Amino acid sequence: MINLEPPKKLRAFVNQAHQVAAEFVRPLSRRYDLAEHAYPKELDMLASMVDGLNQSGQGQGAGAKGVRRQANGDDEDAGVRNGSNLASVLSIMEMSWGDVGLLLSMPRQGLGNSAIASVADDQQLERFDGVWAGMAITEPGCGSDSAAIRTTAEPDGDDYVINGEKIFVTAGDRCDAVVVWASLDRSRGRAAIKSFVVEKGTPGMRVERLDHKLGIRASDTATIVFEDCRVPKANLLGNPEIHDDQGFAGVMQTFDNTRPLVAAMAVGCARAALEVTRDLLRDAGVETDYDRPPHLQPAAAATYLAMEADWEAAYLLTLQAAWMADNDRPNSLQASMAKAKAARTANDITLRCVELAGSVGYSEHELLEKWARDSKILDIFEGTQQIQQLIIARRLLHLTSTDLR
Ligand SMILES: Cc1cc2nc3c(=O)[nH]c(=O)nc-3n(C[C@H](O)[C@H](O)[C@H](O)COP(=O)(O)OP(=O)(O)OC[C@H]3O[C@@H](n4cnc5c(N)ncnc54)[C@H](O)[C@@H]3O)c2cc1C
Repeated sequence: MINLEPPKKLRAFVNQAHQVAAEFVRPLSRRYDLAEHAYPKELDMLASMVDGLNQSGQGQGAGAKGVRRQANGDDEDAGVRNGSNLASVLSIMEMSWGDVGLLLSMPRQGLGNSAIASVADDQQLERFDGVWAGMAITEPGCGSDSAAIRTTAEPDGDDYVINGEKIFVTAGDRCDAVVVWASLDRSRGRAAIKSFVVEKGTPGMRVERLDHKLGIRASDTATIVFEDCRVPKANLLGNPEIHDDQGFAGVMQTFDNTRPLVAAMAVGCARAALEVTRDLLRDAGVETDYDRPPHLQPAAAATYLAMEADWEAAYLLTLQAAWMADNDRPNSLQASMAKAKAARTANDITLRCVELAGSVGYSEHELLEKWARDSKILDIFEGTQQIQQLIIARRLLHLTSTDLR
């Protein structure tokens, strides 16, 4: 069996992330699941610690800020790099083992931060350093089909004037800024869609309401309205030119970096469920034996082994997608494969763990029922299961989005 261990240089960092998740995040898990919309103020201290580690260079690019592609040759391991993308997915796995909702509420680690880290120029990186950024793509009339975005950004002097409504913005209430997808010219289709950093407090931007949810209740999910909201032209991320031949390329680039992060959340959450279930099975006298064929073991043990094998595949795909980003290899296919596999696996595993544990799994005595609820979103946001499969099929079959939709 091929087994990929995390690189040696990241082991201490991963252990540190695990300790934080075990001693700090997991114990808060149930409290903020029950207290939906209450701000987990304990995370402020944790975020300051992460900032301190990043500033001292010991953070290894943890969290969403780490997802930047380095130019060739500027890393000590040029040739084969285990860099900030790999570090990010490994730390996110550990933190999500602690709690996905709380991870999504970590100040300065929003999905908008990944967008900034992925595509911002050096000046923008400096300007938005320390900003906690959410990501606002979805609209009342546009979810999976992001080309249907109706929010507009009209150039006016040194500014863009943004009008539209964004829904389901993770951390939309708590964050300092949102990265908003809007069209510069709706008649030019998807090529005209660009992303803009809009800071909270900008006149014309308001948080309209918060949503109640099935899972990740520690994370706030907001509707944000933009009415004649003026942002400086310097807040556009990437190239302001509209190139009809390049389609979505500019904004889509972000997903190559963020999908492995969501896959990592799924891997971490599923591992949490597997570990608790293993202990519950052991307490019930069911031992899994790695040296005997599954069909010669109790059904619960055979089910457990099958789940672990599935988990391992999701884990390796996630590492592969992040590793490719670290090594400047195009990874759109692998990012979608990792997200599709890991999210579906997490949905299957967490629900099956509830099933294996029976009434204990369904009750609030354990976190199993919570993880089954939390994991569902991982197969929905940053592109649903079906959308990832479409992307994978298009890439493998060399078809365009017009050919296969
Ligand atoms: C808790 C939560 C947090 C979120 N956070 C964010 C965020 O931070 N920022 C943000 O912008 N958005 C966010 N979202 C929105 C999320 O990204 C969308 O819900 C998602 O993209 C799906 O869009 P939709 O809900 O409109 O579903 P739809 O696009 O209407 O899809 C409904 C169903 O149809 C399927 N489907 C759609 N098109 C096809 C097709 N061509 N072929 C086959 N099946 C298809 C989908 O897979 C899905 O199962 C969040 C959502 C939730 C619930």
